Formats: sequence, C-alpha cells, structure tokens
Amino acid sequence: MGMLNLIISYDGKWDLNNRYIDDSYLEVLVEDTTFYLDVMEIVYKKLQLNASHEIKLMVSFDIETSTYSILEVKNDNDLIWYFNLLRNSNLFNFSLIVSIFNGPFSMQEVFEPCHEGESSLTSCSSTFSNNKNCSGPAELLQMDDIKEGDAFFSKLEVQKVLQLLAMKRNFEYKTLKSNGQRLVVACSVDGCKWYVRASTISSTQVWVIRQHVKDHTCAVDVVRSDHKQATSLIISECVKQKVINGECNDPKSIIKHMCKEFGVGVSYYKSWRAKELVLEAIQGCPEDSYAQLPSLCYALSHTSPGTVTDIDDGGNGRFKYFFVSFAASIEGWSHCRPIISIDGTFLRNKYVGTLLIACTMDGNNSIFPLAFTVVDSETDASWEWFLYKLKSALCYCQDLVFVSDRKSSIPKAVCNVFSNATHCICV
Ligand SMILES: [Zn+2]
Repeated sequence: MGMLNLIISYDGKWDLNNRYIDDSYLEVLVEDTTFYLDVMEIVYKKLQLNASHEIKLMVSFDIETSTYSILEVKNDNDLIWYFNLLRNSNLFNFSLIVSIFNGPFSMQEVFEPCHEGESSLTSCSSTFSNNKNCSGPAELLQMDDIKEGDAFFSKLEVQKVLQLLAMKRNFEYKTLKSNGQRLVVACSVDGCKWYVRASTISSTQVWVIRQHVKDHTCAVDVVRSDHKQATSLIISECVKQKVINGECNDPKSIIKHMCKEFGVGVSYYKSWRAKELVLEAIQGCPEDSYAQLPSLCYALSHTSPGTVTDIDDGGNGRFKYFFVSFAASIEGWSHCRPIISIDGTFLRNKYVGTLLIACTMDGNNSIFPLAFTVVDSETDASWEWFLYKLKSALCYCQDLVFVSDRKSSIPKAVCNVFSNATHCICV
C-alpha cells in the first residue's frame, strides 16, 4: 500500500479539443487502495457539494499534439487503472477532472460554444459515447461505431468494441497484428478495405484508435451460422442483463436472443459457456466460493449464535466435507417428533459433489430441515461423518427413528453412530 497525490481539477471549461482549461485545482493525498466511492466522497467534501449535485470523474488525454480524448472513471476497476497511470506519469498531465452537471460550476455553464447549431453539451456527450469504459455491457451495446482518436482503458475493451461492431454490421475480421502495444485488424474477406489500427499512448496503457477505414468493399449481408467474433465472452456481455432478469435461462434462449438482436448465429457450446460466464460474474467462481466457507462459518457463529458448522479439509488443506445446522433448526428440533429423514442428492456445479440432508416434521406436518452437509459422494465415510456431526449438533437423540432410501452406507452409519436408533426404509 502506498500514498498518491491526487490532483482534482474543477471549475474549468472544456474547449473544442476536449482540453479542460481555466480550471482550479486542489491536491489530496489518498491511499492507492482507496475505493471509487471513497474518492467520490472526498470530492463531494472538498468541493462542498451535496447529494443534489451530479458529478462525473474524468481524465483528459493528449493523444496527438493537439488532439485530446476523454475517459470517464466510473468504478473501482477504472480507479485502479487510473492510480497505475498516476504512478508512472506526471500528475498534472492526468489530473482527475470533476464535471458537475448541476449546482456550482455547472457543466452547461462552463462549456465553450461549439460548432454552429450544435449545443456544447451534445458535443460533450458524443465525445463520451465514443470514449467509453466498456466494462458495462449496457454501454458496450450502445456503441454504434468507432472513429480515429477514440480512447479506451485497455486492449480488451478495444477488442470488445470491435467484436460488437462485427456482430452488429454482420461481418468478420481477422487479426493481422496483436501485441501489448498494437492491434491491427482487417475484414476477413480478402481485398476488402475495412481496417482498424489501434495502439497505446506512450508510457500509458490508454489505447487509441489510430486508423480506421470504415467502408467495406465486400458483401456484408450474409448471416453467418457461427460468427467468428461472437465469442462466449462477448455473448455473455450481451446477454448478462437478460440472464439476470431470467429472460435467457438456457443456451437455446441465448441463441435466439443473439439471432434476433444481432442477426448472428452462435453455437450451442458458445451460448452455454456465455451463460456460465454470466453466472461466474454474478456469483463468483466456485473456487472463490469454496475459499469463503471459513468466513461464512465465522459469520454464522456471530450472527446466529448456536449454529453448528464444521469444515473437514482431509488434513491436506483441500475441501472434503462441510456441515451446517442452523441454530433455529437445533432449537426447533426439541419440539419435533424423533423421526429423522435422511437423503442425498448430487450437485451440479463445476466440482459436483453430493448434498446430504437431514429433516423431520414439525407439529404442522411440515418439513423441518435439521442439517446439511456437502460431501464428495455418498460413501460409508461421508454418511458416518455427517451423522456424527448431526449427533453433536442435536440436543437430544433418544428413541430416534431414521428413515432413508436403500443406500447401503446409511444403515451402517446409523448403526455406528446412533447404536440405539431404529432405521427404516422408505417405500
Ligand atoms: Zn469487408
């Protein structure tokens, strides 16, 4: 962790070349791990703004000698990128510009007049729409075209925009050159003039479109069965909101959506992978989820005292078994009949595994869950581990009756752990 001297520019004017001029500025010392919302709070405090003021944080870049481009800093990822830029640059070249849309230093007031018949604000908006942080799928989808001078936070964003363009315009492109400083692509049809060259600005990681031949000299009206640029990653960006809203629940509906919205065909595998990527973006990857289990157990012990949890790592630090019995279940058990139904079902995540569950019936004849366990599979060892944990969690275990299916491991485990209990097979 280190400290960064942040230059905050405000109360200035945007000129026709996207330069922020006649501004005031103040310096703030911040930790380089500061979050986006904390920086916003600092800006609001330092400029004495209140909740009614709408602001945007921006950075203006000198692309050529007289051409500037603007990037908006909108989230933690953008801020990390910006802090990295500051570490390697002259601070005053990349001050954090605060544009305020209402209130003091209102944007409408400070913008210089633009071309005849065009309002200054429109000009500014069009600049933003062409210089997007492309991490948001909604904004990505809004981009209709690129032009020379457009700047992006990373090469990945340039690639995403090009992929979307290729899908929307119904053509494919081939990559002629791709490295850390340069990306050159051309229409995949031999002889077609469509061409894009992008490269980084020296000493920064800002990517700029340097050359763009917009017009195709090939026929671009053929719907392709499996579009080359429609990768699962870009499809996941396109359908993310639909998946979240429950409108695209399976690969088939994703294929349908991509055909309807972009006119491109995509394979079943790509659609399935896109859905997995969306779920990963929303829920995190399974590895992270497993890694958070100890934190979950700790949180449960504090927020729900009496809850019993346990993780068995098999002695080698790798996940083996997980057990949880909530405090409410343990307390409620003393009011239930001493009959416990136990069963297991397979899990469908990346690492599969089996969920074992114990439940009973309450006074209203409703199912009352007692405990859950995640194990590798239904084996003698896993059932026995589960029942041992269940025994240690429940407050009384007299005259018990266990009901289960005919899995051979279950009667053995019941006999070993609850030697006085009766075991029945459900029919
Ligand atoms: Zn072409």
